[in-house]
Amino acid sequence: MSNFTPTERTKVHRKPDRGSYDRELIYRILDEAFVCHVGFIADNLPVVVPTNYVRVGDKLYLHGSIASRLMKTLGSGAPFCLSVTLLDGIVCAPTATGHSVNYRSVVVMGKAVPVEGEAAKRAAMREFVEYVIRGRWATVHPPTEQELKGTMVLAVPLVEASAKVRTGFAVDDDKEYSSPGWTGVIPMKWMAQTPVPDPRGNPKNPMPLNIANYSRPQ
Ligand SMILES: Cc1cc2nc3c(=O)[nH]c(=O)nc-3n(C[C@H](O)[C@H](O)[C@H](O)COP(=O)(O)OP(=O)(O)OC[C@H]3O[C@@H](n4cnc5c(N)ncnc54)[C@H](O)[C@@H]3O)c2cc1C
Repeated sequence: MSNFTPTERTKVHRKPDRGSYDRELIYRILDEAFVCHVGFIADNLPVVVPTNYVRVGDKLYLHGSIASRLMKTLGSGAPFCLSVTLLDGIVCAPTATGHSVNYRSVVVMGKAVPVEGEAAKRAAMREFVEYVIRGRWATVHPPTEQELKGTMVLAVPLVEASAKVRTGFAVDDDKEYSSPGWTGVIPMKWMAQTPVPDPRGNPKNPMPLNIANYSRPQ
């Protein structure tokens, strides 16, 4: 699979050594992250809205109510920018300005195409549910025709994308290490805690292993 080609918009100018267009890396980051932030123009003003997504092959799918401004704007073909971030660590440097974070992030530029037809929308909804919890779709009521009518599903072809990755310790000069502050990295990880059963849950449904042992990426 070929890598992404940097474009005028996705060329990393600041700290270019941290930039990457490696498709595998970009897909790995997208598949590990859970929330994206979508930036677009609404009523002549920039707005950034968090939402969920799922990657299927060379596309991302977004979904939401047909009444949502985000869905309506993107569904009309408006250009947008989407980003995801994985926070890997907090970098403690000897100087105040040397502090940093270790991260893996992706920026995607593009336009979305509405997914039409009940079968295609249903298939995309299945991908969403399975992305969140693998094996879940088979255990829940699928969306009704009415629910699908009220839901817009958008496909975003992955054409213009970049990654940026920071790893390691502070990059301050050696002479700065005479400061009294501890230096190093505090690794960070987003992880599931013990699942909490819904008091209205059917007691005949025991917690399955895919919930009890939930972890990401799925
Ligand atoms: C968790 C986190 C914390 C950060 N904290 C800071 C901070 O405090 N201060 C700071 O200046 N920067 C920070 N950054 C880096 C920041 O994301 C930008 O890369 C940086 O500010 C340069 O922005 P720019 O618009 O000048 O980039 P440019 O290099 O001009 O961006 C050009 C293009 O490069 C690509 N690009 C740029 N940044 C990223 C990215 N992070 N991920 C994927 N593609 C990218 C995009 O396609 C973008 O359109 C942080 C990043 C992350 C993920």
